[in-house]
Amino acid sequence: MPIWNPEAETMERKDLEKLQAERLAKIVEYVYQRTPFYKRKFDAAGVKPEDIQSLDDLAKLPFTTKQDLRDAYPFGNFCVPLEEVVRIHASSGTTGKPTVGGYSQNDLELWTEVMARTVTACGVTRKDIAHNAYGYGLFTGGLGFHIGFQRVGATVVPVSGGMTRRQIMLMEDFGATVLTCTPSYSLVLAEEADNLGVDFKARMKVRVGIFGAEPWTNEMREKIQNRLGLEAYDIYGLTEIIGPGVSIECEHHNGLHIFEDHFLPEIIDPATGEKLPYGEEGELVFTTLTKEAMPVIRYRTRDRTVLHADKCACGRTLVRMEKIRGRTDDMLIVRGVNVFPSLIEKTLLNVEGLEPHYQIILDRPKDQLDELQILVEAHHSFFEPIDTRKLDQLRDEAENELAQTLGVRATVKLMGPNSIERSLGKAKRIVDKREL
Ligand code: ADP
Ligand code: ZN
Repeated sequence: MPIWNPEAETMERKDLEKLQAERLAKIVEYVYQRTPFYKRKFDAAGVKPEDIQSLDDLAKLPFTTKQDLRDAYPFGNFCVPLEEVVRIHASSGTTGKPTVGGYSQNDLELWTEVMARTVTACGVTRKDIAHNAYGYGLFTGGLGFHIGFQRVGATVVPVSGGMTRRQIMLMEDFGATVLTCTPSYSLVLAEEADNLGVDFKARMKVRVGIFGAEPWTNEMREKIQNRLGLEAYDIYGLTEIIGPGVSIECEHHNGLHIFEDHFLPEIIDPATGEKLPYGEEGELVFTTLTKEAMPVIRYRTRDRTVLHADKCACGRTLVRMEKIRGRTDDMLIVRGVNVFPSLIEKTLLNVEGLEPHYQIILDRPKDQLDELQILVEAHHSFFEPIDTRKLDQLRDEAENELAQTLGVRATVKLMGPNSIERSLGKAKRIVDKREL
């Protein structure tokens, strides 16, 4: 499979590390001079830019948190005057003010470069027709993919999210070969095709799907690949770093290669902040090495994963991060037991007869223990006509499997087809009523 920028993506690790160290020293000096936001942080931690000469020195620098960026809202952490900023994006910010991303002209060029590398890693070329159903607008997904597809010369269809029925028509009529959207929306498209009597696998030419922006398990990947008849690639990114284009799977699907010449990753113990070696699970932290408008230093993503540095069969020398295992803040504590939503998804999707549409509901009835309830759709055949005995069996099986893998009891409520709300973007899978 071709590599967009072989020089950067297959560089010897020692050369890469040298480049990273040089860029790190530069960016640290840059942010210190350019914005009081970092000067204050560095001063408080008693560290000066000249203390940072090697990659090991990184640990001396203070972390940047989402709260820090919120406090600097909207532009307090920018390192260039606003007249040099040519684009603003923002995270959805469902819980308060959004986090802002600012881009200079060079930052947009960098984003285009990493997105060209990304889509090339998934086998996209100028021959492809790319149906881009990520949201266009403040969300980084739509425009991020857009510029990457354009750079490699693919034909991009900027359909954005919504009007699902029309999307099915356009995908078929235009002969889309690549589909980009959240993994949950890919299933919404498949369902809408079913509703319209369109056999997705037979009628669509889509061979590649690039799905991300929300956590999804390999079990979910299986479901999607089987239903849509395509090869599904996982893409990871976040507004604070650049948007999509931080890391991408190659054709070997053994982790996501991080574009480390621009985004320097670390794994830390979220409790102590200590740096962990390759192979150990912890919180992913990024330092941007080359961004101009809004570099971030040791940004705590709250996403949990593991890094691996051994060489990949694709030829890339770039570190691989495992599929995101969840967020440090989405771990549910149910009656004192740690429960990871990704484990719930994995378990459900291994039960024959359950569909990949579910919601996790946590409640604490007055003066009682936490209750974990899972709503999940059962295959439509159970309802035509409704077979309560079989549904009861299926529910018992799901509850038993969950009890074994989670170590805590959950009640399962089986739902009919289409009864769990679908999302055009990121799925909302967890409803925690305990905080209300
Ligand atoms: P928001 O979700 O606040 O609108 P972003 O779009 O910047 O803002 O979201 C970035 C977050 O989305 C990441 O920190 C991560 O938690 C999640 N995310 C993005 N891509 C993936 C992926 N491939 N797998 C799991 N989680 C992902
Ligand atoms: Zn690879």
